[in-house]
Amino acid sequence: METEREILDIVGVGFGPSNLSLAVALEEHESARCGEPVAFAFFERQPRLGWHRNMLLPSAKMQISFLKDLATFRNPASRYSFISYLHERGRLPQFVNNQDFFPTRLEFHDYLEWAEAGFADRVTYNVEVTGIRRPAGAGPGPLESVEVVVRDTRGETSAVRTRNVVVSTGLVPRMPIGIGRDDRVWHSSEFLERFRAMDPRRLRRIAVVGAGQSAAEIVRHVYDELPHAEVSAILPSYGYSIADDTPFANQVFDPAATDEYYFGSDRSREAFWRYHRNTNYSVVDDEVIRALFQRAYDDEVAGAARLRFVNLARAEQVKRIGDEVRISVHSLATEQVSDLDVDLLVCATGYDVMDPAGLLGDLDVHCLRDAEGRHRVERDYRLVTSPELRCGIYLQGGTEHTHGLASSLLSNIAVRSGEIADSLVGRRTSPQTVS
Ligand SMILES: Cc1cc2nc3c(=O)[nH]c(=O)nc-3n(C[C@H](O)[C@H](O)[C@H](O)COP(=O)(O)OP(=O)(O)OC[C@H]3O[C@@H](n4cnc5c(N)ncnc54)[C@H](O)[C@@H]3O)c2cc1C
Repeated sequence: METEREILDIVGVGFGPSNLSLAVALEEHESARCGEPVAFAFFERQPRLGWHRNMLLPSAKMQISFLKDLATFRNPASRYSFISYLHERGRLPQFVNNQDFFPTRLEFHDYLEWAEAGFADRVTYNVEVTGIRRPAGAGPGPLESVEVVVRDTRGETSAVRTRNVVVSTGLVPRMPIGIGRDDRVWHSSEFLERFRAMDPRRLRRIAVVGAGQSAAEIVRHVYDELPHAEVSAILPSYGYSIADDTPFANQVFDPAATDEYYFGSDRSREAFWRYHRNTNYSVVDDEVIRALFQRAYDDEVAGAARLRFVNLARAEQVKRIGDEVRISVHSLATEQVSDLDVDLLVCATGYDVMDPAGLLGDLDVHCLRDAEGRHRVERDYRLVTSPELRCGIYLQGGTEHTHGLASSLLSNIAVRSGEIADSLVGRRTSPQTVS
């Protein structure tokens, strides 16, 4: 049974860091302008806030400075800054004494939970948004509002009516072509929960596919946690490549770079990707690379090598034989295929970017596309729509083609959320209700 409520100003789909940052921006927008309160609500399918929980490996660190938090780049005086969090937790002096710009992901997660506590009444957890649609009974004219359909854990659906939707559903895990998941073949996004549920004694041979940060972190983790196990890292490259986080390269994540990308030419946008993809994609932090090499070297000195790097190779197929996983490994060097038998295969093979088309369903035809079939997006992250769809559909993520490299990252969320909040509030009309 579907229910109708008042028309909200904004519904956020997903409540990860992006929409949490938007909630902060909206709250600060209201208090700064003393304006009409904005009616907004978020829907999140997880039971509580969780930021890549299955990759919260104890030693894993942030890949951005703590100053790129939910708010500081937009409002350095925000009460939701990482510094406010440290201050409230009584750790500010020790954090400074530690002289490290890059907190652990565990600490950053604790920060996100701390910030989330300020918005508990705005978020409904344990509900999945299944679609965005034309409101029941809407007339033939342009749509000023849409219905967001949510399904709870019992499978019951309801609909919320809103003038704007901010889609922020995050990255989508990608497996290698031809390889499906099962109880011994995992994607990195499910790693920790599954790993903790396994009996470590039954994990004696492990393979990790991938050349990026998550792959390298998982290799290090299983190597350290399972001293009896052999670990094979299957890499398409010749070893791991370093993530460029030097000062000039880091400028590609600056708020100003978003304008340069958005208003640039096809050639300048292509240059961003050609020269600076190695700031984030299929690359690994220096510290993790060195830690792994050191372990392999120490093993060699001890004459007990148990960490193997299978370079220039791809996992092409897997076959289950009882508890074993037989991986067909294709060597790009020899073009030969060989079998590797393991107790566990982890595919740290990355993610696809967010695509809102599935959620938009029939409304997607009103969202205009560019010559390459990608959604057209305004500078304020609003989808370009035909006159039939007058309400706002905004994207946080999935705008790599229009807004550049930082689109799915944390680097720019404070400023991006501020820009979206400005746009939403600026375009707002006075609240009304439907019967
Ligand atoms: C292991 C890992 C580490 C990373 N570390 C960094 C880093 O250090 N620095 C950096 O800049 N970036 C990092 N990233 C990139 C990452 O995209 C961002 O950190 C961040 O998660 C982006 O936030 P988000 O809110 O856009 O997406 P997400 O964090 O993915 O949040 C999206 C939320 O939407 C929810 N959701 C999805 N679909 C629905 C639906 N239909 N209905 C309701 N809810 C839904 C999900 O449950 C999720 O909670 C990392 C990524 C990974 C995988």
